[in-house]
Amino acid sequence: MFENLSERFDRAFKVLKGQGQITEINVAETLKEVRRALLDADVNFKTAKEFTTKVKDKAIGRNVLTTVSPSQLLTKICHEELVELMGGEHEDINFKGNPGIILMSGLQGSGKTTFSGKLANWLKNKQRKNPLLVACDVYRPAAIDQLHVLGEQLGVEVFSNREEKDPVKIAQAAITYAKSNGFNVVIVDTAGRLAIDEKMMDEIAAVKQAINPTETLFVVDAMTGQDAVNTAKAFNDKINFDGVILTKLDGDTRGGAALTIKTVVDKPIKFVGTGEKMDALDIFYPSRMADRILGMGDVVSLVEKAQEQFDEKEAKKLQKKIAQNKFDLDDFYQQLQQIKKMGNVKDLMGMIPGMGKAMKDVDIDDDAFKGIEAIIQSMTPAERGEPSLINGSRKKRIANGSGNKIEEVNKLLKQFNETKKMMHLMSNKKNMMSMMKQMK
Ligand code: GDP
Repeated sequence: MFENLSERFDRAFKVLKGQGQITEINVAETLKEVRRALLDADVNFKTAKEFTTKVKDKAIGRNVLTTVSPSQLLTKICHEELVELMGGEHEDINFKGNPGIILMSGLQGSGKTTFSGKLANWLKNKQRKNPLLVACDVYRPAAIDQLHVLGEQLGVEVFSNREEKDPVKIAQAAITYAKSNGFNVVIVDTAGRLAIDEKMMDEIAAVKQAINPTETLFVVDAMTGQDAVNTAKAFNDKINFDGVILTKLDGDTRGGAALTIKTVVDKPIKFVGTGEKMDALDIFYPSRMADRILGMGDVVSLVEKAQEQFDEKEAKKLQKKIAQNKFDLDDFYQQLQQIKKMGNVKDLMGMIPGMGKAMKDVDIDDDAFKGIEAIIQSMTPAERGEPSLINGSRKKRIANGSGNKIEEVNKLLKQFNETKKMMHLMSNKKNMMSMMKQMK
């Protein structure tokens, strides 16, 4: 996500490395690079220019601060301005009501139906709500089927009526149904077209007027850059939505849409979609996104994701095993599964300060651990519990069984042994102290 932009910011700040002070000249040079970076990320010219002007004024104004280096100062100011550009504070969606009504809008293919599913999943599992999904696309039977498939997968009921051709009537009937059947949030997925179209706009405006939603969301594909921003403007002029959902941020997005939408429509981004799976959904926090863009990582989100997977009892058990030097390949395997549950590995790496840049060209995806997993799965329970049993002939068998070379098995065992040693050392406070002394 935004790797290119991060790298360009980093490069821009390099101009200031070793400079004792911010001057008109060095700041101008840096900001020229920043502006180019923003333009290349598909931020429009006006926004990019305003951004660098603001940063420059602040930088010159704050130059009296001698405790921080010019590059640190400029990073800080750019961070503040990026946060501002993306809307400042995070804003929640409003799903309160009896029932709360959430109306989706957006072009076909933007990810409306996928997001409707993700939102229903989030409401059900994270907010303890009882959502009802409503299929209001009266033109594409496949869209209705798609929502039913998602609903089934998530255990969320889907309301549809294939005979009715008026989306207003379907939405109204769904709300009546929700009221009498104990659903407290209704998510209305509407029809989209491939391009902005008067009829589609009128239709969604009519649905909005009839059902008076607590929240109207506009869903847009982040990969479409400035087009996304123009579409947002057209939809907002017509239906005055409350918030934006940016999808496909996991792809090769340059970031322009995320950085410009708020300026153009003055509506906050509320969630971002980061994959096709139902849990690939992140709440949008301008400050955390700015952290990522500036290569500062996003430790807060990383910790939150870890906490979601955290099981205290398991952790205690593991701690004990590590202290007794009994950490084995089964535990190692379990740890991999935990990491995988936290999400896309490359995205996770990007949340570690400095790692995003380092990982830019590394090709890892959800299957990153497949090789390691296959090797561990090809071992017998005894081997996993006591890896020192694994001699030459066993290695050969494991390599054959998992479709790997012996070198791969050796590499994994070496990595495991090093991890085990390190974890054991770190579990002991006295050892920790002596390690730190050595590092000084
Ligand atoms: P709709 O026509 O607006 O309802 O769009 P869909 O929900 O059918 O999504 C269109 C395509 O985009 C599908 O193939 C989805 O799997 C995919 N998609 C949706 N959201 C995301 C996302 O956040 N990341 C990625 N990579 N793909 C997505």
